[in-house]
Amino acid sequence: MTVFKHKKFQFHLPPGVTYLDGNSLGPLPRAACDHVSNMMRAEWGEMLITGWNKAHWMSLVRDIGDRIGGLIGAEPGHVVMGDTLSIKVYQALAAALDLNPGRKVILSDRGNFPTDLYMAEGLIKSLDNGHELRLVNHDEISENIGDSVAVLMLTEVDYKTGQRHDMQALSDKARANGVITIWDLAHSAGALPVDVSRAKADFAVGCSYKYLNGGPGAPAFIYVAPKHADIVRPALSGWLGHEAPFAFDLDYRPGAGIERMRVGTPPVIALKALEAALTLWEDVDMAALRAQSIALGDLFISEVERRCPALTLASPRQGEMRGSQVSFRFAHGYPAMQALIARGVIGDFRAPDIMRFGITPLYIDRQDILRAVAVLEDVITNRLWDDPAYQIRGKVT
Ligand SMILES: *Cc1c(COP(=O)(O)O)cnc(C)c1O
Repeated sequence: MTVFKHKKFQFHLPPGVTYLDGNSLGPLPRAACDHVSNMMRAEWGEMLITGWNKAHWMSLVRDIGDRIGGLIGAEPGHVVMGDTLSIKVYQALAAALDLNPGRKVILSDRGNFPTDLYMAEGLIKSLDNGHELRLVNHDEISENIGDSVAVLMLTEVDYKTGQRHDMQALSDKARANGVITIWDLAHSAGALPVDVSRAKADFAVGCSYKYLNGGPGAPAFIYVAPKHADIVRPALSGWLGHEAPFAFDLDYRPGAGIERMRVGTPPVIALKALEAALTLWEDVDMAALRAQSIALGDLFISEVERRCPALTLASPRQGEMRGSQVSFRFAHGYPAMQALIARGVIGDFRAPDIMRFGITPLYIDRQDILRAVAVLEDVITNRLWDDPAYQIRGKVT
């Protein structure tokens, strides 16, 4: 059953390619080409600087923020786009620490994406106020939530293993212990149902170029819970987060609510590509998407285990515990992934030995899964990876 058959044709997928890397960079939505080139010609070309007002470029970050907000359960008016996810992590963490001034510990998961941890380390150095980044294993988060912790900063779905944290339970425990929560939804938005308002998350951040298909380097999003939106102090006090940017005052006054999480001039061309990508989500039933993602993931796991016993499952076997990717460990994972890519099956590799496969039901169906496993079986059983050409490492793996 191809539940989302009508969606697949709305993406440009090169012939002969089975794309299992939408967890890292979503494919091109066909509508984005025309939407972006129309904007360039009719808006940038014809309107020049008047486009900021006439074509409403300035409010795109809020309009698109609300559309993503709909996918993550955010209250309208509480999500804004801009910058990269690393920057949004920094902003959220600085604001969160400021809300909990008596406490010094930032609790996170050892498996968190390194940039989130690097940004925390950098912020701790700049603040020079005795903060500490405490990293524990995935399963030890809950027991480490206590009254010394200022902020719990987690990525809901682990980028390597696809293992999921229980966002509701951890948020509840954090709140009961006076801990502010930041959820990184990089591998959640567009991958599974998320409800930040039901979880009572304090902050959420994420990127739009993975499951949301906004294009390489598409802008990130930040959510601030309504109860904090008018209180938080922006660490990156850029002019577009000012209450009156065009007053050009010399002193900074934060704008109302989520406006203050804006920094500088928005990337309008990139926002237009993302806007087109988001039209594909308008009629998607996230519960149906989730069910199909789990079914395809289960199929992939059982077929790989049956046909490629040299690979070891690195993701949770139980679908509910996974995000929307499946990872396997294999000692020769890097050259094996290169061999797969050379044969039109695109996944990716994460050091030291993880082969990652994104399961994205909008454009991946059972046939794609079965084709990918057939190629994988050929690569592994016939040692096709054992070729010096596949050992050469690119900048991006
Ligand atoms: C993909 C990803 C990032 C990437 O951050 P950028 O600033 O957009 O490069 C950060 N954090 C997590 C958890 C990610 O999965």
